[in-house]
Amino acid sequence: MYLTKVNKMDRNSAQKEIHRLRREINRHDRLYYVLARPEISDRDYDALMHRLLELEEQHPGLVAPDSPTQRVAGEPLPGFAQIRHPVPMLSLDNTYNEKDLREFDQRVCKGLDGQSYRYVVELKIDGVAVSLMYRRGLLEYGATRGDGTKGDDITSNLKTIKAIPLSLDSGDGAIQELEVRGEVYLPKKEFARLNDIKQQEGQASFANPRNAAAGSLKQLDPRTVAQRKLSLFVYGIGRPPQNIDQHYQTMEFLKGLGFRVNPNIGLCRGISQVIDYCNQWEQKRDTLDYEIDGMVIKVDSFAQQRQLGATTHSPRWAIAYKFPARQAVTVLRTVEFSLGRTGVVTPVAILDPVLLSGSTVSRASMHNEDELVKKDIHYGDTVFVEKAGEIIPQIIKAVPEKRPPRAKPVKMPKECPSCSEPLARNPEEAAWRCLNVSCPAQVKGRIEYFASRGAMDIDGLGTAMVEILVNSGLIKDYGDLYSLQGEQIMKLERMGMKSAENLLEGIQKSKSSPFWKVVMALGIANVGAQVARLLVQRYCNMEKLQNAGCEDISQIYGLGPAVGSSVENFFANKKNLAVLEKLKKAKVRMEAEETPGAPQTFAGMTVVLTGSLQNYTREQVTELIVSRGGQVTSSVSKKTSLVLVGSEPGSKLDKAKSLGVKLIDEREFLRMVKGL
Ligand SMILES: [Zn+2]
Repeated sequence: MYLTKVNKMDRNSAQKEIHRLRREINRHDRLYYVLARPEISDRDYDALMHRLLELEEQHPGLVAPDSPTQRVAGEPLPGFAQIRHPVPMLSLDNTYNEKDLREFDQRVCKGLDGQSYRYVVELKIDGVAVSLMYRRGLLEYGATRGDGTKGDDITSNLKTIKAIPLSLDSGDGAIQELEVRGEVYLPKKEFARLNDIKQQEGQASFANPRNAAAGSLKQLDPRTVAQRKLSLFVYGIGRPPQNIDQHYQTMEFLKGLGFRVNPNIGLCRGISQVIDYCNQWEQKRDTLDYEIDGMVIKVDSFAQQRQLGATTHSPRWAIAYKFPARQAVTVLRTVEFSLGRTGVVTPVAILDPVLLSGSTVSRASMHNEDELVKKDIHYGDTVFVEKAGEIIPQIIKAVPEKRPPRAKPVKMPKECPSCSEPLARNPEEAAWRCLNVSCPAQVKGRIEYFASRGAMDIDGLGTAMVEILVNSGLIKDYGDLYSLQGEQIMKLERMGMKSAENLLEGIQKSKSSPFWKVVMALGIANVGAQVARLLVQRYCNMEKLQNAGCEDISQIYGLGPAVGSSVENFFANKKNLAVLEKLKKAKVRMEAEETPGAPQTFAGMTVVLTGSLQNYTREQVTELIVSRGGQVTSSVSKKTSLVLVGSEPGSKLDKAKSLGVKLIDEREFLRMVKGL
């Protein structure tokens, strides 16, 4: 990629460069978030962003409200201001079956006095409706639908969503005012990820992606919203421009401006085609990576829409067709309290088996104590269960009228179901935990997690095998796996030579798992795959990670104090260190793999660059250092290993001198790059 060389630029060239970078970043945002067709790696993208940030820092007067750097610039808000919608956001009437749809069509037909008309049929995204106001091509504000007339001003939160353009691709900026409407949603995968994290942290999980999206948009801190990876599809315009007279055309127009439009739009003549199209999507809904709860049917022509008009609540030219709810009614027989590797106790409902969207359901999550109390669940209750996304079903509500006499409310146990130690609840979280680290259920959970796919990926070591190995006393932690002997395993019940061999082979193979997987497999709270990779990028071996400390870890871009303190706590625990020792003895990988070719001369170092170099751009320098095991940060601190000083260095040099950080010049840098 071409990047201009770093020099203290004069204002004019800086301005040109800033514009070029913004265009480039916006183009890549669009390729990635709108068209799902990325052209560059994340690292190259970060380099562009880094460069733009730097130039804007040098020239604060050139920062513009639609700069990509402004997506997460907002400070937490005390609350939301109200915004009045220029055109009310009406809600749609709902229909639930074919008959309703045919009746809707008859009303349309009558209202249009026999003119011919066509329908546009769109997916009804299960998200949160928002309004985006663009003036002179720039996003001015964004608001929730609210009551349809007034909504909350959530501009800084919406700006974090990269599918929302901050400025329009209208070329000459001729569009004076445009109010675009869309649906903000959380992709299913992201929903599952968020709930995983919530569960790990012992917080109540979100019931469904829509709630998660709505909850995210109501966060007062835009930085939290930015981590939620929300997305958006647009579906209309408040007041369409004069030259556009059809809905379908509107969607093409929006696409041209850089908006994300759902590709599954159907054009239908006649209500039978509409019904077919709706039925097709009801079958195919699970193939999408977001939730839809129905279809939206609109008369295409604006002239005809105007002719049909609206009631006080909803237009007469459009209607929603809702898919049947994926709910079922059954009876709650009993409750199991299951315990994961983190010690959090989760109530799981055991149900009379019932068919729910294609599969038989007999267990459902009830999340935590607060949910039990809120939903007032009793043993023997008749309950509604629902599937949200692809996760396990959950109980939506109980039907108190059908409650058996003298039924007892479901309560959390006071003692651990596995080890009988008393449970504890931190007042800040909803979860009850067992604090006993040797608790058998937690021990098993940790070993299972260690061996799971994505972590050490040990074939043949699933739930059942872990259960057998722990119950027989052969292993007490995952470190013990590596001293297992074939004869020991074969003595166990139902274990043949073949399965013993397989298991041992799987364990043996896991020793060569990449270092980041080892870090992940340790089971440190808040350290999943992504975080483990970031940690390993910074700390090239276990010893460095162990000694890093909360403060240093918190400063890694993308991590925070939560990760920092859980890593620190993990290594502060003597029992964990003893287990780690067993892994070391077994020669499980304890350091990052070397990149073939490049000598790791910057391994574990944190380097800061100040000024400009003769032969390299800032991005090239970063690449050279990172590929040799080092890390580049933007500010000098006590933890900085080296400061690379170019010509016209800035204040970073003074800071480095005052802290006594080692300084190197370009020649010395070159020498290190070559591994001399
Ligand atoms: Zn326990």
